[in-house]
Amino acid sequence: CGIIGRVGDGSALESLLTGLENLEYRGYDSAGVAVQNGSGINVRKRSGKVEELKESIGQPLKGEVGIGHTRWSTHGPPTDANAHPHTDESEDVAVVHNGIIENYAALRERLGANGYEFTSDTDTEVIPHLVQYYLDAGFDSETAFRQAIDELEGSYAVTAMVSGEHVLYAARQGSPLVVGMEDGEYFLASDVPAFLEYTDSVVYLEDGDVVVVDENGVEFTDLEGNPITRQPETVEWDP
Ligand code: GLU
Repeated sequence: CGIIGRVGDGSALESLLTGLENLEYRGYDSAGVAVQNGSGINVRKRSGKVEELKESIGQPLKGEVGIGHTRWSTHGPPTDANAHPHTDESEDVAVVHNGIIENYAALRERLGANGYEFTSDTDTEVIPHLVQYYLDAGFDSETAFRQAIDELEGSYAVTAMVSGEHVLYAARQGSPLVVGMEDGEYFLASDVPAFLEYTDSVVYLEDGDVVVVDENGVEFTDLEGNPITRQPETVEWDP
């Protein structure tokens, strides 16, 4: 159960895979990545080891923005389909999640009744469909993300991206999530070791925090979008 996200210049894939390898100590049964390029979101995910994921990717996925996940199954067995990232049907929204969405059954039923089709057994899959639901209702991406998060009950660290944007959206409630900051390159992760090769400047998010990250910086807010202050700390690390 680990999350990694990266936005900046140059390719995201290597940092994502390094991040996932650095998070292997947390234990997991499946792994996956999603990377954005100019022509949409590309997802590669499977049950098994990060090493196997790496081998199966083949041609490197191009894109400067991406998310990755190691899964410790709580809802649904460790199959390829249940691995994260999860997306909406059109792959406009990709999401990784640690934790448990307690009200996923009710959300799934409502979204299903509205024509949103599910392809996994996970609690997590309600999140990309909820974001898509609010995008379809005409909200901008950031508002759609906040609306979706507002509906979740349970514990979560979530990182999401929307096709065509150089942005990561993230939120936490009851599951750890940290931000790594380097000039022009930013990371999200469930734990600091994920990105220590790249930066030692870290912000520990608190419950209720929502962040919007692009290559120019990190916007720290509460759920309603009011700015909050979070100070970066320098983490000591012996390589
Ligand atoms: N509850 C989610 C699932 O079963 C996330 C598990 C995790 O934290 O890795 O897919």
